[in-house]
Amino acid sequence: MPQIQLLPDCVVNQIAAGEVIERPASAVKELVENSLDAEAAQIKISVKKGGKDLIQISDNGCGIEPEDIEKSVLRHATSKLRDAGDLFKLSTNGFRGEALSSIASISKLVIETAIRSMPCGVRAEFEGGVLKSKEEAALPFGTVITVKDLFFNAPVRAEFLKNDSVENSRILDCIIRLAMANEKVRFEYRADNRMLFCSAEGSLQARISDCLGASVARSLKEIEWEEFGIRVRGFISAPENLQAGKRNIPYIYLQKRPIYNALIAKAINQAYAPYGDYSPIAVIFLDMPLETFDVNVHPAKREVRFSRDNAVFSAVNHAVHNALQNAISYPSISIANTLRENPPAYIATNFQNPQPPTPDPQPPTQELFPDNRIIPISPAIGNATPQTECLQIGKSFIVCEQGQSMLIIDQHRAHKLILYERALQALQNGESLDSQELLFPEIIEMPAVLSPILDEQKNELKKLGFYIEHFGFNTWQVRGIPAHLRISAVGQAIIGFLENAKESRENDMFKKNALCYANSSAIPSGMELSAQDMKTMVSDLLSLQNPYETPKGEAVFMKMPLEDIKRKF
Ligand code: ADP
Ligand code: MG
Repeated sequence: MPQIQLLPDCVVNQIAAGEVIERPASAVKELVENSLDAEAAQIKISVKKGGKDLIQISDNGCGIEPEDIEKSVLRHATSKLRDAGDLFKLSTNGFRGEALSSIASISKLVIETAIRSMPCGVRAEFEGGVLKSKEEAALPFGTVITVKDLFFNAPVRAEFLKNDSVENSRILDCIIRLAMANEKVRFEYRADNRMLFCSAEGSLQARISDCLGASVARSLKEIEWEEFGIRVRGFISAPENLQAGKRNIPYIYLQKRPIYNALIAKAINQAYAPYGDYSPIAVIFLDMPLETFDVNVHPAKREVRFSRDNAVFSAVNHAVHNALQNAISYPSISIANTLRENPPAYIATNFQNPQPPTPDPQPPTQELFPDNRIIPISPAIGNATPQTECLQIGKSFIVCEQGQSMLIIDQHRAHKLILYERALQALQNGESLDSQELLFPEIIEMPAVLSPILDEQKNELKKLGFYIEHFGFNTWQVRGIPAHLRISAVGQAIIGFLENAKESRENDMFKKNALCYANSSAIPSGMELSAQDMKTMVSDLLSLQNPYETPKGEAVFMKMPLEDIKRKF
């Protein structure tokens, strides 16, 4: 066994960097946090090649004292903590003194800084954490940190990075999480000289609107609650704006510090349980006595331990629950209600001006809707027609005869499975899904984090049937959509595809995209079907190799042999 020896500082820092700086977004997060701790009123972030080539953060904060510059890149060197007692009354984002040292150890770092009381600033250059030069420079007050060639000496880590647009979007996600809690600070974020995010100083509502989109912001409900000395405030999805199937990660802040905490997420979701299985959009700010939590759990400082888990759970749960109860128009969301809003599949609603539901809808004809928003259901279902008659029950199930049995088919699941199998086959064969051109292009708003991905994925989206062009800031013009997609589902479907592109590995992308397409396009339960539509759907279903369950393993139909029926009598 070789002798035990202390590791040199540069190796220690590189090891720490493995925990603190996982990807360019983590470096941006740490540097922006430093600017916030320096009480900057304006923070500009600029990156090149997804942050791999360059990350630059400029602020107009307090600056670093010239004699402290070398110290700032040393491990455990911080101006924010003096003794162990301070650990339990932290009000700054940083406190571990690990970020600059970690970033410096795996990049070429330049610090330019000037403080108000000094006539001149300082420019210092480091490589792999080692000081290369330090000189006086005429600089405006504040700090500019430039990180070049991140991971230049950690090639394995560099290999794990995703393409530029995904890294840009992760950076944007970090910026948005910090920006949302600091509405008095102006943020600008440019990637390869393109402005991806800009938010001026303003109210919290205005900031949420800049971060999550104006339509999302408008759909949120304000909450305010206090219990056991824990103050909970923020915004949550109003019950009438819940979106089924969409898993939103809540924005949770503790003393303005973005955190992730499964317990709080559960407390939020549980309050929505009476409305169904939803994870709504939530921006929640928690304030509680400093000695009741510990943020020193992980180097990345996202995790928190509470001294009273139950009290935190209960305060958040009650805050959300109460706000929902007090909703002015208490929603009577029942399954039937939500479904009634869905138009028949062969008529897609206008995305922005939905048609009010008529009390007794007549089956619409194509003449009534002479534009190409008409989406015929039949081609999706196929042409082969079974001999047997079909009967629809509860506008959700199709009953028919097959051989010596009766089938009860879930229409939504059946259509989902049919569309999934078709889309998967087409994508695996390198074919594009059918698209229909819209006579009146739809303007959709994308969450800011997904805009860079959309830009890059435009061609991939074409294969899925979407023809999209950039319209302005976070808005996009959709000129064509997959043949069977309802217009009301366009925005969610695109978001689903983009999230797949961001998260998935290439080999399971086809399946995820096919599933997203099927989920957003399948006819809903609660929709009346014509006899012909039912016949073709049954025929298409039964011609599949595995017609029994959806890709998620849900049963598609029940089969009851005639013998069993006879026995029941
Ligand atoms: P921490 O934030 O945990 O203190 P960092 O390694 O992130 O540790 O930063 C080390 C120190 O460098 C900080 O404590 C602060 O004094 C100084 N510093 C870093 N960035 C800035 C900045 N943008 N403006 C002013 N001071 C800064
Ligand atoms: Mg820091």
